[in-house]
Amino acid sequence: MRPEILFPLFAETETLPGVGKRIAAGIEKVAGSRILDLLWHMPVDIIDRRAGPDLIDITFDQIVTLEVTVGGHDPAPAKSKKPYRVWCHDDTGTICLVFFHPRKDYILTQLPEGEKRLISGKVEVYSGQLQMSHPDYILPPEKRNEIPSVEPVYPLTAGVSGKVMARIINEATKKAPNLPEWLDPALIKRERWPDWISSINKAHHPESKDDTYSNSPARLRLAYDELLANQLALEIMRRQTKKKKGRAMEGTHILTDKFLANLPYQLTGAQKNAISEIGKDMAGPSAMMRLLQGDVGSGKTVVALYSMLIAIENNAQAAIIAPTEILARQHFASLTDMTKGLGVNIAILTGRDKGKARQKILEDLVSGKTDILVGTHALIQKDVIYHDLAMAVIDEQHRFGVEQRMALSAKGAKGIGMDILAMTATPIPRTLTLTVYGDMDVSRLYEKPPGRTPIDTRVMALNRLEEVITATRRAIENGARIYWVCPLVEESEVLDLAAAEERFRHLEQIFGHRVGLIHGKMKVKEKDEVMNRFIAGNIDILVATTVIEVGVDVPEATVMIIEHAERFGLSQLHQLRGRVGRGGAKSTCLLLYGTLGATAKSRLNIMRQTEDGFIIAEEDLKLRGAGEVLGTRQSGLPKFRVACLEDHHKLIPMARDDARLVLEKDPELSGVRGKNLRILLYLFERDEGVKYLKSG
Ligand code: ADP
Ligand code: MG
Repeated sequence: MRPEILFPLFAETETLPGVGKRIAAGIEKVAGSRILDLLWHMPVDIIDRRAGPDLIDITFDQIVTLEVTVGGHDPAPAKSKKPYRVWCHDDTGTICLVFFHPRKDYILTQLPEGEKRLISGKVEVYSGQLQMSHPDYILPPEKRNEIPSVEPVYPLTAGVSGKVMARIINEATKKAPNLPEWLDPALIKRERWPDWISSINKAHHPESKDDTYSNSPARLRLAYDELLANQLALEIMRRQTKKKKGRAMEGTHILTDKFLANLPYQLTGAQKNAISEIGKDMAGPSAMMRLLQGDVGSGKTVVALYSMLIAIENNAQAAIIAPTEILARQHFASLTDMTKGLGVNIAILTGRDKGKARQKILEDLVSGKTDILVGTHALIQKDVIYHDLAMAVIDEQHRFGVEQRMALSAKGAKGIGMDILAMTATPIPRTLTLTVYGDMDVSRLYEKPPGRTPIDTRVMALNRLEEVITATRRAIENGARIYWVCPLVEESEVLDLAAAEERFRHLEQIFGHRVGLIHGKMKVKEKDEVMNRFIAGNIDILVATTVIEVGVDVPEATVMIIEHAERFGLSQLHQLRGRVGRGGAKSTCLLLYGTLGATAKSRLNIMRQTEDGFIIAEEDLKLRGAGEVLGTRQSGLPKFRVACLEDHHKLIPMARDDARLVLEKDPELSGVRGKNLRILLYLFERDEGVKYLKSG
């Protein structure tokens, strides 16, 4: 249960003074609906009102607070577009206050002729004449302290002005309790970080532009808090999985030795490493929870199969689940091929299997005749009962949710944790791996099998389309199969589709009926159909939206054309490019750009320089930011409120070590620091693991 000390922070913003339904709805869009959300809404700039020069000294546009005497009013003539003007002066010069469509009584009471007034706002120098339109503050001199000397500037939303936003967030900071310290005192001292409440106050009451930077001490501390909460939550879950008794499965090597001997190639060093790490996990007493991270084409399938064979050597079953029908079929084909002569029974089950055929598959599964079941989500349906499932592989793991992972685990023997090997081809920078997969052990396939011909990658302007078409014609005459990718247009799926359809029709006119179209709005069956025609070679050019990103293997495809490549993240381009260069033949990738700035150009050039997904992911992180690395859509990257992964990633390993050490010393979080860390978990709503701890 949420600690009482946090209650004020979880109250609705509407409970703050001056926040009604309308404003609450506005700030909900940009920050959230609770007071807490406002605290995480950080200023991006400041307005410094401390300057108060004599009028004669103002020579450029600037923000100032002036004490002036109100002179004459120049009301706008009726029905004219001219503004209402009020002339003011000090001993050195004059300034003209400008109002468009003012309420007259308001102006007259605010600026009575002959009186002194403080005005604060932006002065503009207009051919020698000073003017200020709509001052932010107009007050009598004795109310000077009502004008903040420095005001934070927040990201805004329609219907809430900057002034109102700053005022409301200031109210929110007043509700922040003085929370007990959960950080290690030595760390705080070393980093010179303020305590939590001071950090909140400092972050929202910046005194200089520096205070609004993500590397200011207050912001660093708050970011570290959040990353620590994230790591702590993952570590609690990891320890929980480890606690579960698994099945100790020592490999007998009866199958695996034969399997390796049959392979037409040697395993790479990275594959051997991964296999040995997996072997240790499986032989160990607790359940395996390992991620196999490897670029497209790095050879994950062999590693997965090796692991499944260990289960079979222990008279158990294994399963491999893939996100799409096509992928499942490809796995089925390649696993069947690789296990020739081993006497291993492999079956496939997808949504397409119905009636008698499905019944037969289920019978063989429950009797134990089937050793490996390959399939889609169909594998975790209720009536799919295994004889003795002990090992499961999840391919393209980010395409599956936690529930699906759990459902698969639940298919094993009762009370025993299943060995799980999750696989992903999405390269994530090392630092971010911890925030996404911190609850798993990670094996990386950092090298590719030898003998690959590099993909010839070229960057070209889209207005050279004629040349591209000519080259395409030549390639087809030489038997090439071509992917032609059209990107998201302005984030709209409808326009996106329209662009792809248009290109499809255009290419169809030129190349006739050997052109296909595949996109996200098509039914699974239609997609499979087109894809199968491409695989079979009945289509030469496959026009696609980004749906082809995931794992499909068409070794004969040797050309990848990507329109408006500048709109993609590098990692996304890398994934797309990975669709070609899979067979022996030389492959080409054409990155066509619309318009290019200098950074965009250097981004695309990285694609020409390397095919290493991890390097590309790191560059992407540097150039575009974490959200863009993979497209948040498919990354599984957790959402952070204060921490910004581009700026704060150095804190992640620190937080990880911190979390591990703390739980090592105080596994139930019951000591003084432990109890305070529980508050931290609730503060960042990462408390799902707390229920596994003994109540503190
Ligand atoms: P991915 O990691 O993308 O799933 P795959 O497992 O599909 O990669 O492997 C890609 C290709 O590389 C396959 O054709 C596979 O047979 C081949 N391969 C895998 N390991 C090796 C190796 N050690 N040496 C040579 N080729 C390999
Ligand atoms: Mg694969």
